[in-house]
Amino acid sequence: MDCIFCKIVEGTVPAKKVYENEHVLAFRDIEPIAPVHILIIPKKHIESMNAVDGDDWGLIAEIHRAAQHIAKQEGVAESGYRLVNNCGRDAGQAVYHIHYHLLAGEKLGWAKT
Ligand code: C5P
Repeated sequence: MDCIFCKIVEGTVPAKKVYENEHVLAFRDIEPIAPVHILIIPKKHIESMNAVDGDDWGLIAEIHRAAQHIAKQEGVAESGYRLVNNCGRDAGQAVYHIHYHLLAGEKLGWAKT
């Protein structure tokens, strides 16, 4: 399967990893839009939020659990952070392996673009 995030999970494409456990991996976005911009993904390939079903909902909880941990690790838990999932064309999803953006490190604006 030609999925860039699966290749990062396999280790065949490099990434700046910040957290990993049995189920999830987190790494710094290569084109950060905030001082802290980390992607959190399940190791299992799931295309998007639309494809989450059954036991995979547990992986969504794992991603949120990882986000809480990473926010503390990055020192932004108290100042605040945002978790964003883009699902599908209109949201601008570019990589079809579900991922959450953790954004922090400055006061974040709220934009539709
Ligand atoms: O939510 P969306 O699919 O638009 O976001 C994909 C993100 O994956 C982008 O922010 C892009 O910079 C990031 N990316 C990355 N490393 C790659 C490929 C994409 O951090 N090798």
